Amino acid sequence: MGAFIMPQLSTFLSTRAMLLAAGILFLSGCASQAPPAEAQTATHPEQALIEDLVLANRMLASRELSVLDAFGHVSMRSRTNPNHYFISRYVAPGMVATSDIIENDLESKPVSGARPDEYREVYIHGEIYKARPDVMSIVHSHSPELVAFSVSSIPLRNGDNVVPIFDIRKFKGDGSGLINTPAMGQAMAESLGRSNSILLLGHGVVVTSNSVYSLVSNVNGLRNTARLQQMLISMGGTWDPNPRRVTAQPNTPQTSPAQQTQQAVVPSGTGGGRGGERGWEYWKQLVLKLTDGKVPVSSPPAPAGASSPDDALKQDLAHANRMLASPELGILDAFGHVSVRNPRNPNHYFISRYISAGVVTPNDIIENDLDSQPAAGPRSDEYQEVYMHGEIYKARPDVIAVLHAHTPEIVAFTQSSVTLRPVVNGGAFIGDGLPMFDIRKFDPRETIITSPALGRAVAQALGNRPAVLLKGHGIALTDSSLNGLISRAYNLRVNARIQQQAIALGGKIEYLPQQPALPPAAAGFDRAWEYWKRIIPAN
Ligand SMILES: [Zn+2]
Ligand SMILES: [Zn+2]
Repeated sequence: MGAFIMPQLSTFLSTRAMLLAAGILFLSGCASQAPPAEAQTATHPEQALIEDLVLANRMLASRELSVLDAFGHVSMRSRTNPNHYFISRYVAPGMVATSDIIENDLESKPVSGARPDEYREVYIHGEIYKARPDVMSIVHSHSPELVAFSVSSIPLRNGDNVVPIFDIRKFKGDGSGLINTPAMGQAMAESLGRSNSILLLGHGVVVTSNSVYSLVSNVNGLRNTARLQQMLISMGGTWDPNPRRVTAQPNTPQTSPAQQTQQAVVPSGTGGGRGGERGWEYWKQLVLKLTDGKVPVSSPPAPAGASSPDDALKQDLAHANRMLASPELGILDAFGHVSVRNPRNPNHYFISRYISAGVVTPNDIIENDLDSQPAAGPRSDEYQEVYMHGEIYKARPDVIAVLHAHTPEIVAFTQSSVTLRPVVNGGAFIGDGLPMFDIRKFDPRETIITSPALGRAVAQALGNRPAVLLKGHGIALTDSSLNGLISRAYNLRVNARIQQQAIALGGKIEYLPQQPALPPAAAGFDRAWEYWKRIIPAN
């Protein structure tokens, strides 16, 4: 059981943190060549904490841990002022740098004055720190394995405890399913009670700990517990959630408060067998390897823009192709395609020539009219199923981007009597199910959409919905923007995975109602798109 940090102990910690910060200051003071920007940040009294928080963000988003994806966030309570905490501004956890860290009070208001780029769900953090003086660090993630338990009547067991579930729909919100008001945060903190973790129905998980070092291990452990229980249930035997339960009195004396504080002390990097430190040191090495051994101070500047709006759009579309084919998104394999309408000529759209999405460059992009004929004259290297795109743009003036994919998790729902339904906020656009297109009803000799007539039939089956399932084949997915389409495709695949996992648990499933689309956050900044642009190479 983790130790509680009492107020007097946090004074002890703060002294140590200041000594550490002073040490860093001393070192950088010696190096007279140090750039002024670094010297300035090193003077922050909680520099050590800020660097640990950056590392925690990047570790949790790493491929090895993958507890956080483009979404979610992690925070740490101040070591000098228990009424403040630190958290990143609205960027993806995998690209957080020290200049992104904000200091908030427990109302989740930035200490340095209001700013437009806070996470919308920042209240999760402030309200738990208010209610739980023992909590020093908090993470909010949307791990599919944990979301599956959040919508299932089968409880997630953590040793002898059952992880509680917060059902947001019992509380008045804006219908988005987000914890985006102080009142929602407070209600969630009340449901958490004395527990160290809580599932959020159809949404994610919140894990708390007495230090950031054990937090990273604990959330990883809870996700692994969910995976293990999935396996145990699918094997069909009986099982004990806590087979190493200790019933006899331990021989060793109770840990003293002085020993307990050691768990919250900065790991020395020398190992030596105390709790979560070994994991922290390992994951830290993995992420530092990617940034030349230094904790990043700021994100690298975005690459130079294109010379014309058309070139910029072609660049974005080429990059979107590669994102969809990347292991992080896993939407397209060697097949499938994505297109975007030309905003300067709504009767044209852009799409790649006949190559796989993972190798598309801006030079491969063709401009088509809505009959799917190349605007610059006929050519022999168009995708066979290009008509799906043109006919959908014709029928749906609101659609700006179209994806056709054969993602296995989604295809499964086109061949099964089980309806694809929303189980996570990102999949709420599915509503009461997506329409199904069965090509055999139109052309018994054809298996793919190779003619304008079949393209029109797909557009008709789509109607005014965001997507249409193609029986035994794949999906045609639409959105009102290219970056929105990428997130929607990602969320749809995640939803399909979670639904499959929840069904495999064997209990009753709580499906989500259709929710209003989320309003864009932070002045239209799309953190998933910006993140994927950074981590997935454009060429
Ligand atoms: Zn969330
Ligand atoms: Zn296809």
